[in-house]
Amino acid sequence: MRRKVIAGNWKMNMLPNEAIQMITELEPLVKDTNNEVVLCVPFTDLFYALNVAQGTNIKIGAQNMHFEEKGAFTGEVAPGMLKEINCEFVILGHSERRWIFGENDELINKKVISAFEHDLIPVLCVGEKLEERESGQTEQVILKQLENDLKGVSEDHLKNMVIAYEPVWAIGTGKNASEKDAKEACALIREFIHSRFGSETSDKVRILYGGSVKPENVKMYMSQEGIDGALVGGASLKADSFASLTKF
Ligand code: PEP
Repeated sequence: MRRKVIAGNWKMNMLPNEAIQMITELEPLVKDTNNEVVLCVPFTDLFYALNVAQGTNIKIGAQNMHFEEKGAFTGEVAPGMLKEINCEFVILGHSERRWIFGENDELINKKVISAFEHDLIPVLCVGEKLEERESGQTEQVILKQLENDLKGVSEDHLKNMVIAYEPVWAIGTGKNASEKDAKEACALIREFIHSRFGSETSDKVRILYGGSVKPENVKMYMSQEGIDGALVGGASLKADSFASLTKF
């Protein structure tokens, strides 16, 4: 049985005191859930979020990292820096990193490998743009991203991984994917993992849907076999809406 995970992505929102307040409000609302609750927060909130979440069932992640250990990489944050403050998760390959900041699969692959080496759990995002869906390339795009982003990743590492199917056209647009499209894409991802890494791994890896998930539509996704949770942007910023996502 895979435990469902509801992961929030705050993107570039929330000052430290807002982060502390939100997590303080969230804690009693989610303390009895059986689902895994994760918040991926901006770097400047990490320390505060980790402190206030300590001893609760809320796990904290980052939204990006560099793959190198240390060095002359002005403005970057190293995986060891995240691990040192007890960060557990890191989002990698989010479409905003791919399409606004030009991250390619080769770079994302280095980050995935480095995250595992540092005992961080990557939440790898894959998904097609609108024009790719409209021209029938959805499967091809997802498979290419998986092939390239997971190169050289071991079976043992992959078992712990979280992969999010996030169609680019559904992120922050209010235009969520149908349950059928989300289910099919998640099944495609699991089939890929099965074909490359075997059933023990494909049975364990958690595959989420992300893209305009909100309290009104979360149940529709969570009731689909093979969708193991949600990656949520906008609706993760308020304690009550995020908490209600964990109670589908
Ligand atoms: C995201 O940021 O990964 C996301 C899915 O955003 P939203 O829920 O706002 O569409």
